[in-house]
Amino acid sequence: MRESILTIPISEIFEPKCGCPFCRMRDTLEDRCVEYIMGAAMMEPDVREQTNQLGFCKTHFEKMLQQKNRLSIALMLQSHLNEINSSIISKKRLFSNSKGKTAKISELNNSCFVCSKIEWGMKRLLVTFFEMFEKSNEFKKLLSEQEMLCLNHYEMLLSLSSSMISKKALSEFEAICTSLLQKHLAELINDVTHFCNMYDYRNSGKNADWGNSKDSIERTVKFLTTR
Ligand SMILES: [Zn+2]
Ligand SMILES: [Zn+2]
Repeated sequence: MRESILTIPISEIFEPKCGCPFCRMRDTLEDRCVEYIMGAAMMEPDVREQTNQLGFCKTHFEKMLQQKNRLSIALMLQSHLNEINSSIISKKRLFSNSKGKTAKISELNNSCFVCSKIEWGMKRLLVTFFEMFEKSNEFKKLLSEQEMLCLNHYEMLLSLSSSMISKKALSEFEAICTSLLQKHLAELINDVTHFCNMYDYRNSGKNADWGNSKDSIERTVKFLTTR
């Protein structure tokens, strides 16, 4: 696989300033990866070997189906199903007991080619991200100017930070991340509360002011799930 498709300049991800930048990072890697395998790369032997082994999760099957190239998917599925049959289901000698077989199926049930590539790409981009935070005040400013961090990526950043940046930079990093999260959380609490209050009879009628609350449920789901 051409790994260069998973190389994105960090500045490109942080300049837009809408939504969570790490959701944007994930989305960019995901789009590139899905487009790549739905195109000519699908026929590349090393890519096919990996898709046969790893399969796809539901989210990424859905992304692939949006591409409208159903033959590409069918060809990948054909060899993936054959692989499941020949290397797990019909294989008798390899497994001394049924536990070995279920372990193998469980591994397959929890793997996805696109997820594994995103994880690979994110890991590399995060190394650069933490390096830039450590070195550049301009980049610190760019991070602090982001609209928000989602809960998932906030957890990811805080659990990685102590091993990725110096003790000196750590408290500033945590403060910036926490402030981005808190600001957004406060907005969501406000908007969801406003939404609930709109169902009060006193707020009914044509001139009811929904404020920013109309899409507050969708925004909260995104905050909590990244999607
Ligand atoms: Zn996020
Ligand atoms: Zn996936």
